[in-house]
Amino acid sequence: MSRPLSDQERRKQISIRGIVGAENVAELKRGFNRHLHFTLVKDRNVATPRDYYQALAHAVRDHLVGRWLRTQQYYYEKDPKRIYYLSLEFYMGRTLQNTMINLGLQNACDEAIYQLGLDMEELEEIEEDAGLGNGGLGRLAACFLDSMATLGLAAYGYGIRYEYGIFNQKIRDGWQVEEADDWLRHGNPWEKARPEYMLPVHFYGRVEHTAAGAKWVDTQVVLALPYDTPVPGYMNNTVNTMRLWSARAPNDFNLRDFNVGDYIQAVLDRNLAENISRVLYPNDNGWLKTAEQPLSSGHCRDVLGVFQAARSAWMGIAVAIQLNDTHPAMAIPELMRIFVDIEKLPWNKAWDITKQTFAYTNHTVLPEALERWPVDLVEKLLPRHLQIIYEINQRHLDHIASLFPNDVDRLRRMSLIEEGGTKRINMAHLCIVGSHAVNGVAKIHSEIVKTQVFKDFAALEPEKFQNKTNGITPRRWLLLCNPGLAELIAEKIGEDYVRDLSQLTKLHEFVDDDLFIREVAKVKQENKVKFALYLEKEYKVKINPSSMFDVHVKRIHEYKRQLMNCLHIVTMYNRKPPRAPRGPAAPGYHMAKMIIKLINTVAQVVNNDPVVGSKLKVIFLENYRVSLAEKVIPATDLSEQISTAGTEASGTGNMKFMLNGALTIGTMDGANVEMAEEAGEENLFIFGMRVEDVTELDREGYNAQEYYNRLPELKQAIDQIKSGFFSPDEPDLFKDVVNMLFHHDRFKVFADYEAYVKCQEKVSELYLVSASLGMGRLLKPKIRERVCSHQR
Ligand SMILES: *Cc1c(COP(=O)(O)O)cnc(C)c1O
Repeated sequence: MSRPLSDQERRKQISIRGIVGAENVAELKRGFNRHLHFTLVKDRNVATPRDYYQALAHAVRDHLVGRWLRTQQYYYEKDPKRIYYLSLEFYMGRTLQNTMINLGLQNACDEAIYQLGLDMEELEEIEEDAGLGNGGLGRLAACFLDSMATLGLAAYGYGIRYEYGIFNQKIRDGWQVEEADDWLRHGNPWEKARPEYMLPVHFYGRVEHTAAGAKWVDTQVVLALPYDTPVPGYMNNTVNTMRLWSARAPNDFNLRDFNVGDYIQAVLDRNLAENISRVLYPNDNGWLKTAEQPLSSGHCRDVLGVFQAARSAWMGIAVAIQLNDTHPAMAIPELMRIFVDIEKLPWNKAWDITKQTFAYTNHTVLPEALERWPVDLVEKLLPRHLQIIYEINQRHLDHIASLFPNDVDRLRRMSLIEEGGTKRINMAHLCIVGSHAVNGVAKIHSEIVKTQVFKDFAALEPEKFQNKTNGITPRRWLLLCNPGLAELIAEKIGEDYVRDLSQLTKLHEFVDDDLFIREVAKVKQENKVKFALYLEKEYKVKINPSSMFDVHVKRIHEYKRQLMNCLHIVTMYNRKPPRAPRGPAAPGYHMAKMIIKLINTVAQVVNNDPVVGSKLKVIFLENYRVSLAEKVIPATDLSEQISTAGTEASGTGNMKFMLNGALTIGTMDGANVEMAEEAGEENLFIFGMRVEDVTELDREGYNAQEYYNRLPELKQAIDQIKSGFFSPDEPDLFKDVVNMLFHHDRFKVFADYEAYVKCQEKVSELYLVSASLGMGRLLKPKIRERVCSHQR
């Protein structure tokens, strides 16, 4: 096995990461030393690796500042249309390397750090991830910011500066334990606080109606303090802004009835207001939603940053506001309030502008994940906004009634307000009505949005509904995380593909280029060796780098069917001798926690079975996050995208793996469909029910027992889990999981089990052939055929 090239060695060969240039290097070294001395107040006698990271970060940041100021000045002068991307999550990960790459400074920095006698990879590892997101939705926001800057669009990301991002996951005795993510503890060199732009946000109070219009009075004020983070485009001198808001109590907070005794209490009470931006709620597609948010600070959080974007919208009309799901929906009534109550615009005019301004992206069709805010809560918190929502609803229902007379049921279905039980605002309905465009995030998902979940709205305004299939930035997800492959591609087709991924089709020409194919395989093998070394160092587990890396990483959710993967692992284990290693991961709640425990319990047995030996290893990747994704994805042979058809809106993990040369085993769900179209279905391992099959099975009635009775290997796996084979000390441990699988599995694991296992057999066969050809990785069937015929 060859020693893997260090990233440093690889980068040396790559010009797309910038020219080294003696002047650049000298300037970076000067900047580094200056910041170590003046900013960090350390010298090399006492500096720690963290100080060196900080000094480097500041030196690199210096190269952003001029471009940042010039970009903003340019927007001011040219006044292009502004885009506000409103999102309660921006899952940014680390910033240092991304900045070096996008500024073309990577090679110069590597050289400078080398000359300073330091280790770049060690410094990069010190940076905390900005984990201000749960998963795909938050990472999509981050990828969009990179792409919009690279396209030179005048775009702003608006969100919340959570003091604690997504929790750190620890695994103790197989169970998930959460730890607070204190990511700002050592300071954040990438952000700039802007107290001079602090703005008041009003809550509570009451509405007075006068001849001059509505007045919202007696409110409580929370201050929104913006922090700006630069977002550099790739090699284009553009630097955009991500503006994250932090809640601050005003100095007179709770001091209205001032006396000395209350003064101390009032200062202590400031925390109540400032809690608004304290912590990101771990909530992914509906899981953990039930955890009631104290003092409705969750809802305060949802309006904090977005009101500011609405404010910008009326300052210049050429503004587009994109709502990343319904979380920032309150920006719609807020913009109406500004127009109607403050600017005194007539309602219809205000409404036209508002609708032209907003567009809404839907991210899920799972009913439990669609937001419905209690009316009485909004009434207390934002009484004027509730009145405006009622007014919007009245006009909306009048319009429907005029088109569909006497159709009371349609009015009920399409109302923004749900009656019966707790009165609630249907936030998706508010977003649809208040926007000129509504999009789903993959073809199949947009189709379900249009024809099922919101079909009444599509009947009313069909042209409003669109598809915008998700994407990922090739800078972070190829150039940054897989320099070897990025360079190999650049050698063949030039460097422009980094800005325009459609140019990857030029690689078709090299499908018969044996040397190229072997070099691709070699890079994969090096990435695998490197990741195996990382696992050994960080997790003390040894895996064989010539075995297949079968990776299932994403948030744990029943619809993503980590359980089905687990059943397949048990099946492979039972079919001794098994063939090749695989490894799943990620967090969640209740059932999610049981799934995590089950995977770890099975792993414990499998990994310690002397007969299995090193042939099958199951590793739960603790604390999955952006920086870990960057390590595991380039090392992956097989990408697991196995959600029940119709449930995964798009997926973006699927795309990252494919861009890094992994093959996909998956269902026809989300963007897997477009991926199969693009690559040819014969080049993916597609299996299982399609959306129509799932619908059909729902009609017939899904009966899990039937599959259990018919499939002996499934029966064996389930019986083992149920009887405590894997958990002899607690034989009943997984009875809830098994019970769910039999009696209320909305995602029909057993129905796809057989097809999944068969498809995995095909994967294993292919891997063995590829390995015997010395390729050490999975080959696309077409290429394998060709390689085989050459060998013959
Ligand atoms: C891309 C990404 C996701 C989304 O993955 P899916 O497989 O599409 O669910 C989640 N978490 C992280 C850290 C990611 O980078």
